[in-house]
Amino acid sequence: MNKSDSERIAGILSHFGYIETENEKEADLLIINTCSIRQLSADKAYSQLGVWGKMKKSKPHIKIGICGCVAQQDKDNIRKRAPYVDLVFGTHNIYELPSLIKRIENDEKVCAITNNPVICNQNDFKIIRKNSVNAWIPIIEGCNNFCTYCVVPFTRGRERSRKPEEIIKEAENIIKEGFKEITLLGQNVDSYGKDFNDNNISLANLLRELNNLDGDFRIRFVTSYPSDITDDLIDAVDECEKVCKYFHIPMQSGNSRILKEMNRRYTKEEYYSIVSKIRNRFPLVTITSDFIAGFPGETEEEFQDTLKAIDELELDYSNTAAYSPRAFTKAGKMTDKFIPENIKYERLERLNEKNREVCLKSNKKFEGKVLTVLVEGKTEKNGKLILNSRADNNKIVHFESDKYDIGDFVNVKITKAQTWCLYGDVKE
Ligand code: SF4
Repeated sequence: MNKSDSERIAGILSHFGYIETENEKEADLLIINTCSIRQLSADKAYSQLGVWGKMKKSKPHIKIGICGCVAQQDKDNIRKRAPYVDLVFGTHNIYELPSLIKRIENDEKVCAITNNPVICNQNDFKIIRKNSVNAWIPIIEGCNNFCTYCVVPFTRGRERSRKPEEIIKEAENIIKEGFKEITLLGQNVDSYGKDFNDNNISLANLLRELNNLDGDFRIRFVTSYPSDITDDLIDAVDECEKVCKYFHIPMQSGNSRILKEMNRRYTKEEYYSIVSKIRNRFPLVTITSDFIAGFPGETEEEFQDTLKAIDELELDYSNTAAYSPRAFTKAGKMTDKFIPENIKYERLERLNEKNREVCLKSNKKFEGKVLTVLVEGKTEKNGKLILNSRADNNKIVHFESDKYDIGDFVNVKITKAQTWCLYGDVKE
């Protein structure tokens, strides 16, 4: 979502004559788009501001801005920590940038943080997409779930869906521009449309409409909330040939007591049943997940339930993190239950080890199979051209070929599986 926001910010800035530079020393305007999901990312943002603050001493004309979740969360405090910052704008204020930029160009110090999102047709603003193959479309922003560890509802606000016609228009433009993959984004993507008073507006129906658009492209959606995956959504994924057979479904813990403490609205058993429903429908599906090690009060036995779940569910890959206390959240206040850092990181290490193990096992399943991949990049190795691609099921596949190029769909027979990727040969 942050990368997508950055593309939109770059598009808006281009109206004012700004062009992106790879060399920050050349820049007249420096903006950091921040994430506050963990303390480490927030700390990195402040450290980057410090570097730019030093640059500004010798080049006082440069303007420095900060946006995203750290800006939304820390508001006026940012200026106390970094008084040289010219522009602070929150996650809801991106589309106000045209007026904000004019104000900082007139040497005003600006802080634009609101809890009421600016509602506008995003198609009225240019987007400078970084990737030439994959385009992101945010379809719903914010979250109503209030998981006890998560800062997102406080920084991104409550769920707000974009109108389907606006999304379809953006998709049509993307396809015309030659993109080959559309990823629909939402913190809780399967809640799409619930804030409209219209039962026909849902993620499942949006997938059906996008699937009907002409063109050679495929569609993904992230991130799913386990208990919001409906039978209708599974049917839509099945019916729509352009929709990838891939689900990212964060489980967070394999223990029902911890899930309750996290305010997740499902038990371990309910998660198991969702996974088995999806696997029964799509035998070659890839299911990935997220897990937190060392949530406040988690016992060793409860942590072991997570390791067991990853094994039993045969998850294909998981994002993992040690629990990081966040401002405003309920879990952040459970200080008497915090797990000592050494235990938390020792559990994270075991979680990562389990992840490596199941990833390799999952990749091995594809040896000998033919996957349709989309070429995303290329590298040269020992004088040979290696194409880097991604299969429908989100597996990374490398293969040798001088016949195909970035943006091509190619059938590849998998010859070798490694922990994080697959290797194969073109299947003509
Ligand atoms: S569903 Fe995801 S974004 Fe929403 S509160 Fe929970 S973890 Fe955060």
